[in-house]
Amino acid sequence: MLHPLTNGRWQKIITNQSGNFFYGVKTTKIFCKPTCHSKTPNKDNVLIFKTTREAIKSGFRPCKRCQPTGQTLSNDEWVNQIKKYLQLNYQQKLTLDKIALDCHGSSSSLQRIFKKITNKSPNDYLIELRLQHSQQLLRETDYSIKTIAARCGFNSDTYFNTSFKTKYHQTPLDYKYHNN
Ligand SMILES: [Zn+2]
Repeated sequence: MLHPLTNGRWQKIITNQSGNFFYGVKTTKIFCKPTCHSKTPNKDNVLIFKTTREAIKSGFRPCKRCQPTGQTLSNDEWVNQIKKYLQLNYQQKLTLDKIALDCHGSSSSLQRIFKKITNKSPNDYLIELRLQHSQQLLRETDYSIKTIAARCGFNSDTYFNTSFKTKYHQTPLDYKYHNN
């Protein structure tokens, strides 16, 4: 069930006016009321929902800030939201500030609550995701180390090599050799 992003709806979203609809952002899988003061989304990534149920059924989660379902988001729910966001976006360059902005919280509460619930920092979780994905590419493709590093969101192949070795006690190339 798709509802059009009319110009009227878009204007409400960017000027934070109320409307009888909700909007979700594809890259974060979070949905908001049009009044939400979160970052203005990229127009191409916006989906319109008539009800919160419709948004939830489409795999979106309620925003922590504007609470579109009228319920406070628990820390567990928020951390699940952040994890989902990282799983969708780990290939990109991500800073704590960007993650916090996209997940509608402050960077200090993001760091603190994520660590409290998962026992690791958002960055540790992000590196794990990147390394897991790199293992898959090492096994299943013939991409160079440089390409794999870039595809998994590492700034450089040196950083990729170091992170891989720290976690798995072998180099990416050794891993590839033993798993091909
Ligand atoms: Zn919101």
